[in-house]
Amino acid sequence: MDRIRELIDLLNRYGHEYYVLDNPTVSDAEYDKLYDELVELEKIYGVEPDSPTRRVGGAPLSKFDTHIHLGRLYSLDKCKSVDSLQEWVSRIEKVTTDYDFVVEYKYDGLTVNLTYVDGVFKRATTRGDGVEGEDITQQVLTIQSVPLKIDCEGEVEIQGEAIMRLSALDAYNATATEPLKNARNAAAGAIRNLDPRVTASRKLEIICYNVGYSTKRKFVSQDDMHQFIADNFFGGYYYRKCKGIDEVVSCLEEIERDRDTLDFLIDGAVIKLNSVATQELLGFTEKFPRWAMAYKFKPMEMTTTLLGVEWQVSRSGKLNPLAILEPVDLGGVTVKRATLNNISEIRRRDIKIGSRVFIRRSNDVIPEIPAVAEHTAHSVEITPPSVCPACGGETCIDGVFVYCQNENCAPRTIDALEHFASKDALDIEGLSEKTCEQLYNELGVRTPLDLYSLTREDLLSLEGFKDKKVDNLLTSLSNSKKTELWRFIHALGIAGVGKKSAKSLSIQFDTIDALKSATVEEVLAVPDFGEIMARSVVDYFSSPTNLAIVDGLLDSGFDFEKKQKATGIFSGKVVVLTGTLQNFKRSVAARLIEERGGSVVDSVSKAVNLVVKGESAGSKAEKALKLGIEIIDESEFERLISD
Ligand code: NAD
Repeated sequence: MDRIRELIDLLNRYGHEYYVLDNPTVSDAEYDKLYDELVELEKIYGVEPDSPTRRVGGAPLSKFDTHIHLGRLYSLDKCKSVDSLQEWVSRIEKVTTDYDFVVEYKYDGLTVNLTYVDGVFKRATTRGDGVEGEDITQQVLTIQSVPLKIDCEGEVEIQGEAIMRLSALDAYNATATEPLKNARNAAAGAIRNLDPRVTASRKLEIICYNVGYSTKRKFVSQDDMHQFIADNFFGGYYYRKCKGIDEVVSCLEEIERDRDTLDFLIDGAVIKLNSVATQELLGFTEKFPRWAMAYKFKPMEMTTTLLGVEWQVSRSGKLNPLAILEPVDLGGVTVKRATLNNISEIRRRDIKIGSRVFIRRSNDVIPEIPAVAEHTAHSVEITPPSVCPACGGETCIDGVFVYCQNENCAPRTIDALEHFASKDALDIEGLSEKTCEQLYNELGVRTPLDLYSLTREDLLSLEGFKDKKVDNLLTSLSNSKKTELWRFIHALGIAGVGKKSAKSLSIQFDTIDALKSATVEEVLAVPDFGEIMARSVVDYFSSPTNLAIVDGLLDSGFDFEKKQKATGIFSGKVVVLTGTLQNFKRSVAARLIEERGGSVVDSVSKAVNLVVKGESAGSKAEKALKLGIEIIDESEFERLISD
């Protein structure tokens, strides 16, 4: 009973912070874990009157007018495994064996209840405690995706989720003095703000997925409801029909796999029974419908303690702050470190050593700390080091970064060697960070050129290097000389030139000799190259030391193969993506274009042939129009790629 009381008090506090204050201090996954523990204990010891398991959401805020919903709003029962999903199906089968399912995204935002009378928008409320919500009509009126008129007689209540797109959140946080913790919180905070201008500034959308109450229009199935929503609400929502549980499971796998490509948060999928008659047979518990189940995905966010900060020297001399974390399991992976970006981001997010912080991971990036969960009595400021932790040399601060000023600082050289050998550069197997360190320390390797004069005997003298390992490394080094020009350019580590810019340079100049003698004006003609980058390229090739390395490498036998270019609908086209695409992350759209022969650049210039314009496209689309460049919208883009 003591533990039950402890859990109830803790969960009620977290619930208040989450639902009422829009300011959570623990991740959803941690909340869910405690909640599940309470549910298990309550099965044995009974349910206390103030238990969160009896309630939907939180009480409405008194600063808003409140409104009693016409139909009650519920939460959802949740499961995390196929086995427990199967148990739910078994419970259904006790009542009926005639069923089919639909699967929808479980949008992670704030529930909004929209009322229309004879097709005219009348009111919007939050879910509140399910019976009574806050009147947020003025706030919702600022959201363009909500239609003011729909085709429906009588009075209806339609539920949707107010969300902030991840691209809109990134754009907002890039300049905000107080960055928002996450997209769910950002949406909830924007809607439940008394000033509708704040709501408008966050660029929210509402995605509707349910008609909860209707006086005239009756629905016989989810299909019927889906069609009604698709006809009346822009964009619709994710909806798949599934015959049996196996189809549901493969649909869930697909959604979880592709979750990272979406521009909004989902924390799972909702499986519903299609037929309304079957839904009525099953009914509701105090808290949720028995005919629907939320399948929660692995968490992408947790909280943990920031134990310290390590400043890692990169090849440019930049000291990158790395967070050392109390290890925490995040979606099956133990996370111990996270990036802290730069001093300005640390300050803006008010990140301190000793504080509890949120960490977030998506498939393709290393974990980051989007926000502080809570400071503690032991929280201390993070101060940039005045001397380099690697070589003891003096540091300087330039803009938002700290730099080691010693050009010969060992980690800088080792990082440059590692970059030279990395996957997106020359892809030299066997040249790991550790090996680069050994080569630096024990064999005096200082430049990439030194790598190619290493002998068998040299390598055999290293600890852990036996015949096979030595042979493999020598073969990898020899194979690396047959490569593509862009890889070679990227491997050189020219300041500001990443993989994409290296590709653009190789397309524009075609040979390394042409690039070596290029002028600033000539490099400026490369799509996406500005003054700073153009100068960086020219400066690199005007340094005698660099030229000696490049020429030495070329003399050692580099041979640049011309890779067969992908061909397709975008062959030879230089494309710019602008505005928000509804159905693709930018990186995915770019990949689709490249796979079909095109190249994607960021800025509009005469070199560009096509602009794909999403929502709220701004100056780029205008510039393209002025230059007479072809502009297409997302649906045309979708048509082109599916062709
Ligand atoms: P929920 O958010 O997990 O699920 C119910 C809600 O899902 C519905 O009200 C609806 O708004 C939404 N939804 C999204 N897509 C839907 C769809 N296609 N069909 C139907 N509904 C859809 O439940 P809840 O009761 O609002 O909140 C509980 C959850 O909130 C917890 O599991 C936890 O993850 C989180 N929470 C976190 C904290 C914290 O401190 N971090 C505190 C309280 C609650």
